[in-house]
Amino acid sequence: MSRRVDGKVALVTGASRGVGRATALRLAREGAAVVVNYAQREKDARQVVDEVRAGGGEAFAAGADVGREAAVRSMVEQAVRRFGRIDILVNNAGISHPGNLLTLDEAALDEMIAVNLKGVIHCGRAVTPGMIERRYGRIVNIASIAGFGTALADTTPYAATKAAVITLTKRFALELGPHGITVNAISPGFIRTDMATAMAGGDTEAMLDAVARKAMLRRVGLPEDIAYAVLFLASDEASFISAQVLTVDGGRMDFLSHSG
Ligand code: NAP
Repeated sequence: MSRRVDGKVALVTGASRGVGRATALRLAREGAAVVVNYAQREKDARQVVDEVRAGGGEAFAAGADVGREAAVRSMVEQAVRRFGRIDILVNNAGISHPGNLLTLDEAALDEMIAVNLKGVIHCGRAVTPGMIERRYGRIVNIASIAGFGTALADTTPYAATKAAVITLTKRFALELGPHGITVNAISPGFIRTDMATAMAGGDTEAMLDAVARKAMLRRVGLPEDIAYAVLFLASDEASFISAQVLTVDGGRMDFLSHSG
């Protein structure tokens, strides 16, 4: 059976852990050579690379803070030297600091804007000239249901950055469509990762249980649930899909009506 992204080159940001890790492994299993980006956890990123290679795939770890444009550019240059090009960009790297209007810390706000919002722009700007030249590209941005407006406490600035990711997805798609590049977003619900457990605070399992009860499927998500959706949007099966936001949240019942 042919693999779904065979021969493609993918850059997955924030691929050392969580959703990014699962996505890098899934794309590699389906035939892509993968650039495993990380910010700090080089050892974790190298483990992902080892796992890809053990399965017969190609990968390398590339450290770069996506919030810094120069670092992103040199990572992309390195990737092009190693693998020749980038066909698939998955803008997954993201951080979440708690805060509301009255409590948010400005340094935390700036960091979230740099990583969650500017990171998407930096990576997009670095990879798209090559995609335009080849008239082929797939960009998948990881937004969040927070970007549509959830009531989860203490996530106001995070939600704002994710709303921006949804808007950037549509604007990139508009700009890049004539060049044969699709741009879509995935809005995950609660996914069991380090970020989710940190957001859950003290009693993680109780919080995850409460979130699971809000989903029609009565569970929280796993990183692989998002990886499969990314794979679809990154594959040629999705070649006529652009500017879309796919929600992958197990069916949140609290979004069905305004009356709760
Ligand atoms: P996670 O487990 O906290 O992992 C975050 C990843 O991003 C790590 O690989 C981390 O690298 C990397 N990263 C952080 N800052 C970075 C930077 N400045 N430059 C490059 N990489 C950076 O997070 P996750 O839950 O998998 O989240 C992945 C994405 O899904 C995020 O965009 C998040 O907002 C979104 N999301 C998550 C959930 C959820 O419930 N988990 C829900 C909706 C949306 P290091 O390991 O080197 O630190």
